[in-house]
Amino acid sequence: MKKKKLVLVGNGMAGVRCIEELLKIDPDTFEITIFGREPYPNYNRILLSTVLQGDTSINDITINEMEWYEQNNIQLYTGETVVEIDKVRKQVYTDKDRQVEYDELILATGSLPFMLPLPGADKEGVTAFRDIQDCQTMIESAQHYNKAVVIGGGLLGLEAARGLLNLGMEVDVVHICDYLMERQLDPTASKMLQKNLEAQGMNFLLNKQTDEITGSDRVEGLLFKDGSKVEADLVVMAVGIRPNVQLAKNNGIHVNRGIVVNDYMQTDSPNIYAVGECAEHREIVYGLVAPLYEQGKILAEKICGVESKKYEGSVVSTQLKVSGVDVFSAGDFLDSNDTNSIKVYDDFEGVYKKVVIRDDKVIGAVLFGDIGEGPKLLNMIHDRTDISDLSKVTILQDSGDESSKSAVITMDNSEVICGCNGVTKGEICGAIVENGLTTVDQVKDNTNASRSCGGCKPLVQDLLEYTLGDEFDQSEIKEAVCGCTTLSREEVIEEIKSKNLKFVKEIMNVLGWKNEEGCSKCRPALNYYLGMLYPSDYDDEEESRFVNERLHANIQNDGTYSVVPRMYGGVTNANDLRKIADVADKYDVPMIKLTGGQRIDLLGIKKEDLPKVWADLDMPSGYAYGKALRTVKTCVGSQFCRFGTQDSTQLGMDLEKKFERLNTPHKVKMSVSACPRNCAESGIKDVGVVGVDGGFEIYVGGNGGTHLRAGDLLCTVEKEEEVIETTAAFLQYYRETAKYLERTSKWVERIGLENVREVLFDEENKIRLVARIEETLAHTKDPWKKIVKNKEKQEKLFQNLETQASGRV
Ligand SMILES: Cc1cc2nc3c(=O)[nH]c(=O)nc-3n(C[C@H](O)[C@H](O)[C@H](O)COP(=O)(O)OP(=O)(O)OC[C@H]3O[C@@H](n4cnc5c(N)ncnc54)[C@H](O)[C@@H]3O)c2cc1C
Ligand code: SF4
Repeated sequence: MKKKKLVLVGNGMAGVRCIEELLKIDPDTFEITIFGREPYPNYNRILLSTVLQGDTSINDITINEMEWYEQNNIQLYTGETVVEIDKVRKQVYTDKDRQVEYDELILATGSLPFMLPLPGADKEGVTAFRDIQDCQTMIESAQHYNKAVVIGGGLLGLEAARGLLNLGMEVDVVHICDYLMERQLDPTASKMLQKNLEAQGMNFLLNKQTDEITGSDRVEGLLFKDGSKVEADLVVMAVGIRPNVQLAKNNGIHVNRGIVVNDYMQTDSPNIYAVGECAEHREIVYGLVAPLYEQGKILAEKICGVESKKYEGSVVSTQLKVSGVDVFSAGDFLDSNDTNSIKVYDDFEGVYKKVVIRDDKVIGAVLFGDIGEGPKLLNMIHDRTDISDLSKVTILQDSGDESSKSAVITMDNSEVICGCNGVTKGEICGAIVENGLTTVDQVKDNTNASRSCGGCKPLVQDLLEYTLGDEFDQSEIKEAVCGCTTLSREEVIEEIKSKNLKFVKEIMNVLGWKNEEGCSKCRPALNYYLGMLYPSDYDDEEESRFVNERLHANIQNDGTYSVVPRMYGGVTNANDLRKIADVADKYDVPMIKLTGGQRIDLLGIKKEDLPKVWADLDMPSGYAYGKALRTVKTCVGSQFCRFGTQDSTQLGMDLEKKFERLNTPHKVKMSVSACPRNCAESGIKDVGVVGVDGGFEIYVGGNGGTHLRAGDLLCTVEKEEEVIETTAAFLQYYRETAKYLERTSKWVERIGLENVREVLFDEENKIRLVARIEETLAHTKDPWKKIVKNKEKQEKLFQNLETQASGRV
């Protein structure tokens, strides 16, 4: 039978989801062609903020790999725009002079970011935040410039601002209203959010209207209507989106704000449909994926000719994807004359919850700080649940007791767990039982739950635990190493050991990596795992390392590098200082700065000068660039301080000499204070030692960075040698069990302090861990010295290497 020709314009989230639904119903009837203006396969636009925030790479957010199109016989044209539709001949034309016939045509052209028509908006350094190209622009700008201004204090603006902070930029957020996210939050929640984000380093300019973007070719600042100004090297406009309707409009398809569709997503033109952000249904244009996916399913059913329910509109909810901030909002959350609300405000814990009720029905909710009840409330709003029989307080009652540990347990099977993909608790539990699923990834592949924004992953995890009961194995909590494989870190390490794999490429080949070159997430991780497993005979693969580690220096925003020589325990001498001063003169070092870890940082060194600088310094590398032991900070201690009971400086130097050059899953910072006054800040280090009467307290898992965390007291020991031995066992246990790029703070939280104690306090275990770290330490060599002696390496690394834009592998 001759296949029907189906053409999709727009290779984005809504259109491709519709095709997935259609293939599920009827994989054989259609010959499918997809056009996408962007040069990529379909990717998860929602997760662009995680790319910008540095948590994932572009590969990780691809939803449908190229193979998916091939396997489903879909003809995909990327980087190609449909410019005309001939409704009479039933053909589309592209900007590459291609013409393709259709029997059915779906328009899924999404939205365009709204750019304020300000004078200067066309200057270099002004960007939107909508696609991969915009992320790249921001990442590249952060390499060379320092000051970013985001216009728009809504969801997207704040996610962009967080990403720019992670990229090391100073960020001002300009917002026209006097409080943030006013479309999703009430003033109380908004002010709490602002406080939290300010603590993260964002600066807010509220009640400001931009009048002009100033500068010559490139942006230099913003001028506001009230006459005030702000400097900017990069301006991100996140002020809203407009449905992308031009193609439809130009070709006589009825357009209002969006492309007007009926309850089956049909436009006014025969055989032409619209779905996603470009479509307007009952006067509403949606900008979140949950409704778009509902539309896609209904459209797929319609095109396949199966009985379909009508699309009747959606209730939407929002979650902000900024690390460290939990915000949820749904429905009508503002009070009015005919509503009442229940509010909980806990200033100590930073928690605020508000539920708005009209005629005994929950119509809206805002949660800040604890969003556990989000899905339950969304379901109540969606189902218009009558709450007249419920005591109002129970709606927001914290389900703290053991029998109802998680909100999911009390939910009905019909209640939705994954808001983006509309997957219910019943569907997830059914799939777990029927298909023997044990991991979140398997549930994602099987049901789509947690496939989009990922906000429901903890709930899916809870459901696995709840459904499998005693059979649930915590160790089964599986997270793939990256998008190139479905294998978890533990599985990969098991395979490396059992198959005796010795090279990064070999692991990828043997374990069937989807992307044969790997990605920036897995390559450094595999290189680290191999080095950890084979300390004596693994040849480190430099090309798999992040660029800073390859060059043994930190790249700075102007393309120069910083050099930090080792100074054990933060102690220096006149000879070293003289050498540093000579080097600074000889290489015109523009800035010499003391670091937070008590070291001297020479900033602004040219890449080609690095080996010469190291040779002249003739000091060990301070590893300020590495996933390794950075510094051991010390206080003055008993040598000079009148409070000091211990020689903290000597112990710090001993610790640093012992563990320098040790590769670890992430950077490790240590410190030693000689009394509980704690001048070396031992409470916020990966390993922090505090001198007390008769011995030392050892704290672990502390962090003074973005995810501030006080260390946990691991144990108290009497002697310096015990401090070194316990630290050795702790570091080796961390090296062997942490995921790559997991700081000790996260690792201790994940595996539990009790677990760490059990392992370390078992004398035999401890001895074995110490023996393994000793073997590793016996094979470390100073990288600067190695390069200084090796001309070939100098040429390869410092004359030819092109550092990549993101500063990563
Ligand atoms: C940074 C960011 C964060 C977000 N976070 C969330 C979130 O947390 N939760 C949520 O639900 N939603 C979120 N969204 C919104 C969500 O991503 C969108 O609702 C969704 O991507 C819209 O899907 P779509 O297919 O309609 O449009 P798109 O995904 O934009 O796809 C449309 C595609 O069509 C292409 N195209 C347009 N015209 C043509 C043409 N003539 N020829 C060929 N190709 C064409 C475009 O280039 C584009 O690739 C976020 C969006 C962004 C940008
Ligand atoms: S921590 Fe105690 S011993 Fe060390 S410098 Fe401070 S006061 Fe002195």
